[in-house]
Amino acid sequence: MDRLSRGTALNGNIRVFCCRTTKLVQEAVTRHNCLPTAAAALGRTLSVGCIMGTMLKDKKEKIEIQIDGKGPLGMMVVDAYHDGTVRGFVTNPYVEVYKEEDPQKLDVGKAVGTDGVLRVIKDMSMKRPFVSEVPLQTGEIGDDFAYYYMKSEQTPSAVSVGVMVDKDYSIKAAGALVIQMMPSATERDIQIVEEIVANLKPVSQIIDEMKDPAEIVKAIFDDYQELACQELSFKCECNKGKFAIVLSRLPKEDLQEMIDEDHGCEVICKFCNTKYHYDEGTLQGFVNAQIAHEKQQREAAGKA
Ligand SMILES: [Zn+2]
Repeated sequence: MDRLSRGTALNGNIRVFCCRTTKLVQEAVTRHNCLPTAAAALGRTLSVGCIMGTMLKDKKEKIEIQIDGKGPLGMMVVDAYHDGTVRGFVTNPYVEVYKEEDPQKLDVGKAVGTDGVLRVIKDMSMKRPFVSEVPLQTGEIGDDFAYYYMKSEQTPSAVSVGVMVDKDYSIKAAGALVIQMMPSATERDIQIVEEIVANLKPVSQIIDEMKDPAEIVKAIFDDYQELACQELSFKCECNKGKFAIVLSRLPKEDLQEMIDEDHGCEVICKFCNTKYHYDEGTLQGFVNAQIAHEKQQREAAGKA
């Protein structure tokens, strides 16, 4: 099971979040048939998404992350929830970009692009959503979120995120480590964190070697105090009924066209790639309901 550990260290002067997301990244990659570069980009965003989701205070809240750097990957969207579940997609999963100087290495920054923004939408159920965006820095995801935390939340943060893709394109390890300075942090604390981060192995390698997020943080900070531990997973709450409601509201002329030409229709959920099929009879039912509703309204207007 994927999990996240969060807590404090350096006498409570820093907050630390560490997550292992290998399984959920694998699930997203399998669902969307991502090639390695897209897998790394989407996997990194899902991993930071998990951390942002668990930072939410209320279980009804939701975070949506949108990254659109005008690179070949197109747009990435990740939804993260308070309960540790995430879902997401990338518009062009069949993208392969390798670094020019090292053709073995995936070039996530180039695939994502930097001509655009990282947008975070906090959906706080009843209240108006809170939208915040920053220009993309490198498209490597970790740097972009570090910049976001600094600019949007005024919280100096170190963000290390990684996805290790195996030779057979399966996900060997994935995860993220976020270290945030509390207002009480001293110059010395900042220095310690900077040194640690500068000498840290890639986070995907650490996760591949150690697996347990709490143990990883304890190995980095002796005085780590875990405050909470949470399970993480990929989950999309779409279902046939939800898409049926959307379909039933389409103009009846469009529905009629689907009946006449295709004898039904297929809807694909962007987030999880699940296909739902609706037969002719179902669509005819939506058309009939609209006709009946219009007739009712005409009659009501006639009486008035
Ligand atoms: Zn779905």
